[in-house]
Amino acid sequence: MLVAYDETLTRHLAAVPHFERPDRVRVVAAELAQRGLLDERIDTRRATEGEVGLVHAPAYIELAKRECDRLDVGEHEMLTTGDTDVDQTSYESALRAAGGALIALEHVAVKRKAAFALVRPPGHHAEPARGMGFCMFNNAGIAARAFAVATGEPVLIADFDYHHGNGSQALVGNGISYLSTHAMPAYPGTGSANDNRLTPGASLVNVPLSASGISTEAFVAIWVKGLRAIAKRLRPSLLVVSAGYDFILGDPVGDLGVEPGVATQLGRLMREIADTYCDGRALFCLEGGYDTDVLAGCVADTIVGYDDALAVDAADPESIPKMQRSVLESVGAR
Ligand SMILES: [Zn+2]
Repeated sequence: MLVAYDETLTRHLAAVPHFERPDRVRVVAAELAQRGLLDERIDTRRATEGEVGLVHAPAYIELAKRECDRLDVGEHEMLTTGDTDVDQTSYESALRAAGGALIALEHVAVKRKAAFALVRPPGHHAEPARGMGFCMFNNAGIAARAFAVATGEPVLIADFDYHHGNGSQALVGNGISYLSTHAMPAYPGTGSANDNRLTPGASLVNVPLSASGISTEAFVAIWVKGLRAIAKRLRPSLLVVSAGYDFILGDPVGDLGVEPGVATQLGRLMREIADTYCDGRALFCLEGGYDTDVLAGCVADTIVGYDDALAVDAADPESIPKMQRSVLESVGAR
């Protein structure tokens, strides 16, 4: 699988003690290289302000630039719009992250193959006019919107991060649909199943999970059942995966107790969906995941699972807790 990654992604918050730190991508890239999964690598590129403007308001883009530019070397502050720490490099880094998603998308669209944008800062909390939750620009959302605008074809964003992607939910419509599992109650507080709607080109399916955790089997079963049903209904031309691994057992920020072996299964499931509906077009964008060693193993296993194209292991639908089962049934996943 093609991986979009380069050293520019390690500049943001390099001198700041923070969960969202350069090692997140550096350690993953080293693991991929060691396992022979980085042979097909491309540099990211700088997204243009016009491309970022597909999702974000010009006034917010200007604010993000201004608030980074005014910092001296070594200084860091939070964006005034939300809890995203920034330093002098962060605006340019965020443009590279969005551009990483876009250059990966270009490969996906032309070659009809998958790509992984190994980028930071992450994106799924960034709303059109508000950066928050460690995010500045919504990388996955920008790529999804770029594809939908260019082709007029439907896109499905599948988000398995521990947290709800409030920024991605805000983009639902005009060809973009969104399916998410996330802990609840948890940051950012959005993601209720009451918001769900099944509208062609504008579907929203939130499957909140108990913050006390879920079994690995149930997690896999929810994704198999939910994603298969939604994809069958929406028939997306592009699958965008918001690949966040902070739901994995032991993560210092999230942790739903799910074992790391789930990553291979998720990779295989995404392959099945991309091959069945999207003519092989799948774009993975890194979101959360704060234990760097676990993150590295999970990203690698996701890629291996996608590439080996084997069937997802059987997961007993009976393992799905009642609440999530009823959410899935309400969107036609039986
Ligand atoms: Zn997260």
